[in-house]
Amino acid sequence: MTNIEKIAAKTLEVLKDKKVQPTPNEYNKEFCNVAKSQNEKIDDCNLFKELVSKLTPPEQDELKANNVETFEELIGLLLKRVHIQNVSTLASIIKQALSPSINIHLDEQLTNFSIKIGDSPELIFEEDIQKEMQKLLENRFATDQNLLKEKTADIAKLVTLMGKHLKEAINNNQNSSTNVTNIKDELESIDLKESSASELVALQNKLINAATNIESEMNEVNKKLSTGEDHVKVLENKVQVLESQLIEAKKEAVIDHLTGLLTRRAYDTEIKMIDKNFERENIQYAIVFFDLDHFKNINDTYGHDGGDTVLKTFSKILKSQTRENDILARYGGEEFVATVEYKLRREVLQYLKRIKAIVNENSFNYKNKKIKVTFSAGVVLRNDHKTYESALQKADILLYEAKNGGRNKIILEDQTVI
Ligand code: GH3
Ligand code: MG
Ligand code: MG
Repeated sequence: MTNIEKIAAKTLEVLKDKKVQPTPNEYNKEFCNVAKSQNEKIDDCNLFKELVSKLTPPEQDELKANNVETFEELIGLLLKRVHIQNVSTLASIIKQALSPSINIHLDEQLTNFSIKIGDSPELIFEEDIQKEMQKLLENRFATDQNLLKEKTADIAKLVTLMGKHLKEAINNNQNSSTNVTNIKDELESIDLKESSASELVALQNKLINAATNIESEMNEVNKKLSTGEDHVKVLENKVQVLESQLIEAKKEAVIDHLTGLLTRRAYDTEIKMIDKNFERENIQYAIVFFDLDHFKNINDTYGHDGGDTVLKTFSKILKSQTRENDILARYGGEEFVATVEYKLRREVLQYLKRIKAIVNENSFNYKNKKIKVTFSAGVVLRNDHKTYESALQKADILLYEAKNGGRNKIILEDQTVI
């Protein structure tokens, strides 16, 4: 009997004693126990142990905890394990989970890890690999977070830039189209983070298009504005011409163009001031009405130009004798009016005498012709009248008296005749 046969016989005996049925399983277990007690090395009995030693420590612990000692029991346990096909599916899910969701670029570390897991999916159960997975996962969160910050900053950059320039463009109409061109340039040159490029370039292009449209519209508006500007310039010139004409017209209303003396209208305004001074401050003044004698004849003899020259010369004489504070005006064709401020009545008489002497003692020159001119005048002292109007009226009456009295006469209200 061989050793194995002896062990087999002994095994059957032991099982009988233990009252255990010699099923293949029970027989097998007991056979190895007997072999061990007889120090017999049976390869079949070590097969199970060798297999167990190849398992991971947690697996070995699991076998111990469940009293797994036979192949049947081990198979039962192994059947509960995940199939390699499922492991590779799980590995690819893990790979996806580890890739940053926003950042489309994988770093080298992640790429290597993916290759490793792809080649041997079962590695995901190893402790070192699991630690690596943990690190990659943390890395993924950090990368996504940073990227989100960068993208938000880029959008803010674009929006702020657009907003700023549009505001400037609207505020500053003149340079608006240049401003929009600047916006476009800036938009084009804006440094978007590489990671943002794929999404933000589309937005950037939309903004550039919007800026281009605004630019061409602004150019249109500017064209219209400059045409309008030309029209305005023409109108401005017209207004300027009208303005200077108005100034001239105003001057003409105040200054008589032939003699340079005040007009009758200006006299009517000025006399009010003189009369106020008389009423308030008792500043005395006389009113003198001058009228050239037979002026019609002068016109007839020397022509209208000759008459004009006489009017100008007579005006010069009156002006030379009249003081700054007094008024001197051409009242009508060949009629003049003057006010003479005085303290003593004789000052007025002296004024009148001087003028009469100058006119009488000289001849007026016109084209080498000497023209003899005389004038008549009516004179009132304002103080002799209640109102300015009645004084004026009286001066006119006295002038006509002088005319009727033979001309070349100055008549005062007290019937003094010069
Ligand atoms: P009297 O001695 O009664 O004043 O006679 P007169 O001829 O001077 O007066 P009259 O009123 O009959 O004529 C005045 C003339 O003065 C008539 C008009 O043609 C002329 N005359 C009016 N204004 C001007 C002017 O600006 N230039 C010239 N050259 N003549 C004028
Ligand atoms: Mg007259
Ligand atoms: Mg006259």
